[in-house]
Amino acid sequence: MERIGAVLIDIDGVLTVSWKPLPGTVAAMERLREAGIPLALVTNTTSRTRASIARKLVGEGFPVSADDILTAPVVTAAHLRQHHPGARCLLINTGDIRDDLTGVTLVDEDEEESADGGAPDVVVLGGAGDAFTYAALNRAFRHVQRGARLVAMHRSMYWRTAAGLDLDTGAFLLGLERAARVEAEITGKPAGSFFATALAHLGATAPHALMVGDDIESDVLAAQRAGLTGVLVRTGKYLPETHRAADGTPDHVIDSFADLPALLERPGT
Ligand SMILES: [Mg+2]
Repeated sequence: MERIGAVLIDIDGVLTVSWKPLPGTVAAMERLREAGIPLALVTNTTSRTRASIARKLVGEGFPVSADDILTAPVVTAAHLRQHHPGARCLLINTGDIRDDLTGVTLVDEDEEESADGGAPDVVVLGGAGDAFTYAALNRAFRHVQRGARLVAMHRSMYWRTAAGLDLDTGAFLLGLERAARVEAEITGKPAGSFFATALAHLGATAPHALMVGDDIESDVLAAQRAGLTGVLVRTGKYLPETHRAADGTPDHVIDSFADLPALLERPGT
């Protein structure tokens, strides 16, 4: 296990489903901690701040802190500060993530057309949910059509909740891109820059790092393209047909995150 430089771990569908731990995942993370392996939880979750996620996970027994967690909003804020400094941003997101958008100027929906502010420079799509109303998406469409840049935290099509699969941002984003004839800048997984940010956070390099996820495209194959070792788990959003249809092969496939310590202890891993 000592030769592993870092482990990046997706949260939803890997450690938890609807924020409840999957069997054996708390114990598996404790074993990684005992082995002293640097780890980061890397998530496209857009419904909570990293502090709120940490509280939730600690409450379920996971040995983590807010500093171990990198969310799509945190990485999006870094992207906006770097590539669109000073931009007025219209955020469409379900859940309050404002605390993680440090240094980003958000346009209030009610004030966006006011004389002093002017229209937004960037439309930022976060996670789908009740905030993705016709009115909000149509507002985004109009701003993008007249020239605002389109930034999206991810292209995920669906995620798993306790009630089943729920439609996610990617489905709406495709329509918006087609209608406005633009391509969004993606900041969360599977963007290569997302993995680079996470590795920099841990002071690790891709060839010595592992990414564990339940999304074969966004977590596993994207990490492998970025030079990491990819590990697919058969929990969360995992579907055998998606696995078969993927245009790549994970380096490793395990039934659950609970099996990760055993995989790391296997010679040659
Ligand atoms: Mg996941």
